[in-house]
Amino acid sequence: MDTNIDILLSGTYSDQSIERRLVEKVKANQRITPEEGLWLYENAELSFVSMLADFVRKRKNGLNTFFNRNFHIEPTNLCVYSCSFCSYSRLIKQRHEGWEYTHDDMMEMVKKYDDQPVTEVHIVGGVLPQYDLAFYTKLFKEIKKHRPELHIKALTPVEYHYIFKKAKVSYKEGLEQIIASGVESMPGGGAEIFDEEIRDKIAGGKCSTAQWLEMHEIWHGLGKKSNATMLYGHIETYAHRIDHLDRLRSLQDKTGGFQTFIPLKFRNKDNEMSYLPECSVIEDLKNYAISRIYLDNFDHIKAYWPMIGRTVAQLSLNCGVDDLDGTIDDTTKIYSMAGSEEQNPAMSTKDLVMLIRETGFKPLERDTLYNIMNDFSETVFEEDEFKGYLSLPVVNNN
Ligand code: SF4
Repeated sequence: MDTNIDILLSGTYSDQSIERRLVEKVKANQRITPEEGLWLYENAELSFVSMLADFVRKRKNGLNTFFNRNFHIEPTNLCVYSCSFCSYSRLIKQRHEGWEYTHDDMMEMVKKYDDQPVTEVHIVGGVLPQYDLAFYTKLFKEIKKHRPELHIKALTPVEYHYIFKKAKVSYKEGLEQIIASGVESMPGGGAEIFDEEIRDKIAGGKCSTAQWLEMHEIWHGLGKKSNATMLYGHIETYAHRIDHLDRLRSLQDKTGGFQTFIPLKFRNKDNEMSYLPECSVIEDLKNYAISRIYLDNFDHIKAYWPMIGRTVAQLSLNCGVDDLDGTIDDTTKIYSMAGSEEQNPAMSTKDLVMLIRETGFKPLERDTLYNIMNDFSETVFEEDEFKGYLSLPVVNNN
């Protein structure tokens, strides 16, 4: 394959340089070390890491760029925790500012999509005592009964740790009950940053790093898939990011149960860390690229376009990203409340397809488990079809 990576190799790097070693390793599909990952964060330019990441992305996924037609339900934004980066939650004492949906409310939301071609419902929210194991298993069963083919991706280890502890069941027993009620995948949230000291400062009290990883390991052991996130751009260092990626890579070596890695940018609107500046677009793109290079055993890297905006989402496709999330009529409030680029995070399928096509990539609709549902590479959308000029009445001047 004569690619950008060959251009890099034929460049000016000396035989002994770290750049040349990294290019050769990536080309030979060899794993880079934590020290090399850290070197990339600290020293490499965006152009260098994006070329390496693009090579890895194309080796794994070619030009394929996935998206999923899903919708979100956020049962409550009240929470017993108070993570300092969270713009979304309200403490119980601020109940008047929050929402607490009942089963009926949420079934109404599900029914609103009855005639829509969605394949997944994504359910996450705050942590409240009354939203316990019995509450959730009943909800999941009701959703499955109403629409059996809808894939339920629900709750993170943060919620599971709390509700299982309250129900006095082990992680394994709890997860078995969750699976029996209809949940098929676990989203990647609640990972934040794994370094214990930083985690304690920004997300103290909720499930620990070890518990987050243990929950996913058990979930994978039960034959299920999950995703993983990393919250970056706050008080963590580059070494903390590499530590985070490394712990994910190690667990993935053991279980192979992660599908997708999703870097989440810290946004500073209305939270306890609003005094921090947000990191630049260059930093966002470098972070996607280094994640793609480092996580050699993850198939997919996903960007949430509502979080970074449509233009950066397009650029990210050349920096290792092969999956864009946040598609049609997406009702999530998590990103807009955190000051994301898109205050109205809904895009039509056509808009998203065109966003991908404009960059030269191939838009594919997938289901949660990456089965391809539709190839939109050549689709002509009805509203774009040339219907011919209106026939005008002939004016006879004679
Ligand atoms: S990040 Fe999650 S656990 Fe933390 S306060 Fe917000 S909703 Fe609660």
